[in-house]
Amino acid sequence: MNLKDTIVAPATAAGTGSIDIIRISGPDSLRIIKKYFQPTGSPGSADFVSRRLYHGMLIDSEKNPVDEVMAVYMASPHTYTCDDIVEIHCHGSRQIVKQILALLQRDNVRLAAPGEFTYRAFMNGRIDLPQAEAVARLIRSHSDSSRRLALSQASGALSRKINAYVDQIKEALVFLEAWIDFPEEDLPPEDVSIIADKMEKLLADADLLCQSYDYGRLQTEGASILLVGRPNVGKSSLLNALLGENRAIVTSLAGTTRDLLEEGVSIEGLPVRLVDTAGLRETEDPVEIEGVLRAKNKIEHADLVLLLLDSSRDVSEADNYAYQQCVGRPTFVVLNKIDLGEDAFGATVFDLPTFRVSAKFDRGTDRLKKAVSSFLMGDSGAIGDSVLLSERRHFDTLIRARQSLLNFVGLLEEGETLDLLTFELRDALLHLGQITGETTTEDLLDDIFSGFCIGK
Ligand code: GDP
Repeated sequence: MNLKDTIVAPATAAGTGSIDIIRISGPDSLRIIKKYFQPTGSPGSADFVSRRLYHGMLIDSEKNPVDEVMAVYMASPHTYTCDDIVEIHCHGSRQIVKQILALLQRDNVRLAAPGEFTYRAFMNGRIDLPQAEAVARLIRSHSDSSRRLALSQASGALSRKINAYVDQIKEALVFLEAWIDFPEEDLPPEDVSIIADKMEKLLADADLLCQSYDYGRLQTEGASILLVGRPNVGKSSLLNALLGENRAIVTSLAGTTRDLLEEGVSIEGLPVRLVDTAGLRETEDPVEIEGVLRAKNKIEHADLVLLLLDSSRDVSEADNYAYQQCVGRPTFVVLNKIDLGEDAFGATVFDLPTFRVSAKFDRGTDRLKKAVSSFLMGDSGAIGDSVLLSERRHFDTLIRARQSLLNFVGLLEEGETLDLLTFELRDALLHLGQITGETTTEDLLDDIFSGFCIGK
């Protein structure tokens, strides 16, 4: 991607809003705004002091007014991209935005690719890769916990941790490389044990970081919870009770929720995707068969399954069939319709954690929510405010770096050659560099930045 030309893109999403912002970045930014901006109350062009907002008229090449706007110029290098940046605040209108973009494109300004502003920020060294990824995550975040996590990553917390690992490994590498010049001498045993000690400490810390991924993923992507049970057992009603609003259609006819209904909700502060499945039963109806197939597929990937039974009836063949689909997945039994009277079930059903509720009258659901949240959080309470891993890419790469370090410690203890030892350390550094973006490939960058929105 060319880093030297001038790019433009709308920074606001398509839709109706009171203002739209158009962002320009690159060496021509100042020339462009001076040419097309007529400041209020002065016949000449504005002097554009950096970071000052100017009011005026945007005009085209024939000096026809395009829109009344505010414009700001931000001088390189203290900008988002490190290049000169101009932002034009025009009236919220896709038509005006289109006209301004067309005007600038006729003057050699190129329409930016998705994420290209952040790509430039990365390439110009203003942010590293986890920070760029956090920007994308921040824009996508739908829950408070996800926003907080992304913000912490955007501030560079993860990069600082990884860079601390890098520094320690480099220190060990420098020490070992110094010995390569003296092949006839063995490494002093006390030095070997100091290095092994340091690397083991680093490994223990990296282990904790890897373990934080489950929790980090939960905080950002949310857990998926599946409501499973025979038709009419009250899945839609429970979904509504958990959502606190009337979203799914509730009827007394069996088999009405034919498709998967997915809703985002926060349970005890945790983002959760609740999926109401079609009633799980053996059926001939082709529409229902499709729903059942999708439900089965979802069970495989659910973080938790809520298997609903009707507390006023004995376990039926259909209930047993639904239970069979859940075997092997983390499952809670939810005995619904307790308002209908005493149930004949024991404390637990199918040997699974069992909860008694009335979805219709919203009884017992608070206890269920608490249990769901503590199950999903596991022992993550110990993680506190420390740095978390939340991106799959970081997790996978850290696991590879960890493996190289494990190999290193093993080889060190076996008294292997310096060549082999330094190879493992360099390998670990390579992987850690891939997390921060120090050693990365064009493909990986394409992959990351193409997921951004236009104008970011
Ligand atoms: P689904 O097919 O499993 O999604 O079941 P629905 O949520 O559509 O509920 C089926 C029927 O059971 C409806 O008539 C609901 O009003 C009723 N129902 C659901 N939950 C309860 C409950 O807790 N108590 C009682 N008495 N009826 C309920």
